[in-house]
Amino acid sequence: MKTELKGPVRVRFAPSPTGYLHVGGARTAIYNELLRQSLGGCHILRIEDTDKARSDEAMTSQIVAALRWIGVEWDEGPVLQSAGLERHRAAARQLLAEGKAYHDFVPPAEVEARRQEAQRKKENFRYKDCFAPPPKAEVERRLEAGEPYAVRFRMPEEPIVVRDLVRGEVTFGREHLDDLIILRSDGTPTYHMSVVCDDVAMAITHVIRGEDHLSNTPKHVALFRAFGAPVPAFGHLPLILGPGKKRLSKRTGATSVEEFRARGILPQALYNYLALLGWSPGDGREIMSREEMIAAFTVERLGSSAAVFDHDKLAWMNAQYMSRLPLPEILAHLQPFVDRLGLGGVDGERLAGAVDLHRTRAKTLEELAGFLVPYFQDSLEYDREACARFLAQEDLPDHLEALIGRLRRLPSFDADSIEAALRGLADERGLKAGVLIHPTRMALTASKAGPSLFELVAAMGQSATLRHLANFVRFLRSAPTAGP
Ligand code: GLU
Repeated sequence: MKTELKGPVRVRFAPSPTGYLHVGGARTAIYNELLRQSLGGCHILRIEDTDKARSDEAMTSQIVAALRWIGVEWDEGPVLQSAGLERHRAAARQLLAEGKAYHDFVPPAEVEARRQEAQRKKENFRYKDCFAPPPKAEVERRLEAGEPYAVRFRMPEEPIVVRDLVRGEVTFGREHLDDLIILRSDGTPTYHMSVVCDDVAMAITHVIRGEDHLSNTPKHVALFRAFGAPVPAFGHLPLILGPGKKRLSKRTGATSVEEFRARGILPQALYNYLALLGWSPGDGREIMSREEMIAAFTVERLGSSAAVFDHDKLAWMNAQYMSRLPLPEILAHLQPFVDRLGLGGVDGERLAGAVDLHRTRAKTLEELAGFLVPYFQDSLEYDREACARFLAQEDLPDHLEALIGRLRRLPSFDADSIEAALRGLADERGLKAGVLIHPTRMALTASKAGPSLFELVAAMGQSATLRHLANFVRFLRSAPTAGP
């Protein structure tokens, strides 16, 4: 069933630039964009940088780059929240003038002492149960005396009911409703003030964000009402947990989009994986392009229970994309990994051939790049233990030399001709083809497993194949055989 929500929507993704883009944040961005793309409207990227001590300009660029890389699109922004501080301050002053907020002269230390006392007694602490707004005459006197004050918003006493798009109806009773500071004594607006002012100014219709913000929502709803602004619909996404259902942390693997990128996960795979971590199209599909997800997206199918991040599942999904994406796309994403291995300037055609041959066997771009090294390296290191059975075959060097001769004379170096040459030689010498196939694979890749040997030899090319085989023969001859 398609969502009953009607577009156009105005949504925002509002990260604080205090660190790299976390996968939880990326997932929030994805759902905002899917909602916007499926219903039409506007997706705004808003950088919540008002906490100057914790915000970092470099992080803003990182977050923007990570969003672009994973394929999230937005229509407006990045808008810096700090650019609106004057407007947020003016709005707080307006609430003060309208009597919806009041001057609070109580020193923060005194409020803190009362909070701790309540905590000791295991009582719920509410500022407004302990302190009353000062009467007008007192306010005037203390203002005149130049006493510092904060501006506190008058929170209504009636319960606030939120019809959360993900969690259903959530009621916040009086114990959750307390007067809150909207302007600090140094004149800076608080986080809640800035968020709501910007959501009002941007005419946000749907706030899709992490569950960690649920407890802020009654405050925000009351502020929207105080501004006489329409209250947006809220949807709070459950946390992403790590293995063992603990908080997703560095200890159990990567947590930021940047790290997954560095490990060789494709952006399409990460997007797809994160989108399905808390949403499903309802028909069992798992590999879905962004366009397919846009067509299928409904908020009704957002899950309300915590999702567990499964690194193996992501690796599986990445492998699917490694096999399915058009080769030029894979090559583009692979380039940095290839460069890192010093293979930057190699023959593009040979590289593409090798990538196409190996991509169905690699789970990450990093692994795939590793498979390419033997194609371009002068000589390989062979492990004596892995080669024990080849070292034990006395006549193997001679067979391989004969194979070198055949391969050198091949007029066309394609998989069929290579296969015919190898099998022909094996027949002539009364050998099973495997006697030549397995050591040849080892010679060419220094490994026991890989794609079909004949395609491997063809992709490797004549000169590298002959070079590796000759080196391998030298290795077999130089190493004294195991045993008596
Ligand atoms: N800046 C907040 C965060 O990074 C998000 C606030 C919101 O979406 O309302 O968690």
